[in-house]
Amino acid sequence: MKQSEYFKILKLTKRSLEEYKNWGETEIYKAPVTRNPIEKSILKKERQKTFTTKVMNSNEELGQLEEQVNSCQKCPLGKNRLNAVFGVGSSNADLMFVGEGPGYDEDHKGEPFIGRAGQLLTKIIEAMGKTRETVYIANIVKCHPMIDPSNPEKRANDRPPTPEEMEVCRHYLDMQLDIIKPKIIVTLGASSTKGLLNNGESISEIRGAVKEYNGIKLMPTYHPAALLRNPSLKKFVWEDMKKIMHFLETGKI
Ligand code: SF4
Ligand code: URA
Repeated sequence: MKQSEYFKILKLTKRSLEEYKNWGETEIYKAPVTRNPIEKSILKKERQKTFTTKVMNSNEELGQLEEQVNSCQKCPLGKNRLNAVFGVGSSNADLMFVGEGPGYDEDHKGEPFIGRAGQLLTKIIEAMGKTRETVYIANIVKCHPMIDPSNPEKRANDRPPTPEEMEVCRHYLDMQLDIIKPKIIVTLGASSTKGLLNNGESISEIRGAVKEYNGIKLMPTYHPAALLRNPSLKKFVWEDMKKIMHFLETGKI
């Protein structure tokens, strides 16, 4: 066998082992092999069943957590929300975006990043060759932080979450991370970056740097709302996303 072919096989094997690990596999076993077509189809069904059970489990765990969030009153933001905004995407995502908190549109619909900034985030995700369904999108607080909490119908009523609100709500994000186990987190903007890293640097200093949160790689970048205000920042976000794409393809960063 040529050396290049040998390396190709090694690389493919490594990738598939990593994929097993992603699905929660902790042991390597030799799959039973058979040439008998009936046995073959039984074995295939068995494998599919294991695979589906694992995905179902993560989905179910996320579903149960979402129910807890929907009735949560652990901080004052719970009192005036129209909808809690848990998160959307794949329970098996290798990339997770974490924003600041729901705004007007998100509070009304219960889905993260659907307003103008959200539409820009969706475009960024699609430019990376991914979709909202294959990544995971959440916020550091699940309820809408409002300047005037008595009026959720008012526009331009958004404010960043306080450190206390982020601290209380972070428990839910930690649980989401535990279930989804992404390979990398992208924090969008200063709030979620500070909420997770407790850092002193400004977002322009820290963006693009590789950090860690609970043993998971984390890269801060600008919030899409900042790109709407200042389109000249787009090139920096794209630079950061290219690093992420390279990491997800090669494991190197
Ligand atoms: Fe609960 Fe988080 Fe909503 Fe506060 S923001 S009420 S902690 S879900
Ligand atoms: N901005 C955020 O940080 N999160 C959203 O869900 C929407 C806008």
